[in-house]
Amino acid sequence: MPRDIKHDRSLVYGPVPSRRLGRSLGVDLVPYKTCTYDCIYCQIGRTPQTTTERKPYIEPQKILAELESRLAEGIKPDYITLGGSGEPCLNSDIGLIIERIKQMTDTKVAVLTNGSLLWSEHVRNDLLQAHVVLPSLDACNANLFNKINRPHPDISFETMTRGLAEFRRVYSGSIWLEIFIVQGVNDTEAAITGFKPFLESICPDRVHINTAVRPPAEDFAGQVSMESLESLASALGRGTEVIAEFKNSGNAGRGKEVDRQILDMLSRRPCTTKDIAAGFGLREESVADKMSELSASGLVETRKSGERVYYIKKS
Ligand code: SF4
Repeated sequence: MPRDIKHDRSLVYGPVPSRRLGRSLGVDLVPYKTCTYDCIYCQIGRTPQTTTERKPYIEPQKILAELESRLAEGIKPDYITLGGSGEPCLNSDIGLIIERIKQMTDTKVAVLTNGSLLWSEHVRNDLLQAHVVLPSLDACNANLFNKINRPHPDISFETMTRGLAEFRRVYSGSIWLEIFIVQGVNDTEAAITGFKPFLESICPDRVHINTAVRPPAEDFAGQVSMESLESLASALGRGTEVIAEFKNSGNAGRGKEVDRQILDMLSRRPCTTKDIAAGFGLREESVADKMSELSASGLVETRKSGERVYYIKKS
């Protein structure tokens, strides 16, 4: 369950561009860093002490008020994503928070979770109202699980995988499972094919493969090349998709991935260069150049509304 960014004070951050969730408005439900795992690849650093204690780490009213005020600014994310600085299901109010967000807005609610607490009926029930749940499964056996995720001692591989399968049985929303690949640890074809029986029982709607593109908690949690990821994805079958983002320079760049993300966003709604720059954390001049390229390639068209020029993906 890698996180997009590390926040300082705000409980609500973004929207940030997300390969899986489009423009994702992040909501932090636990203080930095509160997690059941201490993954070697974690992009927000080591977990000082893993925990399984569920409690109202942050008052729901505080979270909801901040979210309401961000939405009142007129931002229109594709998803409101509960995640952030650790494992969001540790917040015992997560069910109530999802319910209140759904009363507040029509924007879909996604939960980024490591799935370690889904053995609990309470946690499963809390997540039932989410539109999408994105759990992790990085290992196909206990040995790799302990090596990659370094879980709290109370969480066993069996308990965790049983919880995921049980959740699938009761949850009617979408499950997008992420497998994080670490070089020299779970990047062999044998390790990958070992996932197949678990995928049968968890039956995710989508399977995503990722690797460390931002600095991991441990230097040895190395990145796997795009070519290797694609070959592992094809070994896994089930339409497994590689979601690693091997760029992000701060400039719009010329990468196909940036183009794809921008086109994705424009297929959802018309945007100005300013919108795109804000959504992707890029300079507006750089985005303007990028949009000229995409217009010249015939991939986007412009429409004027008042003084503003909007870009739209050509169908
Ligand atoms: S589950 Fe792993 S990657 Fe996600 S926040 Fe916890 S330690 Fe980091």
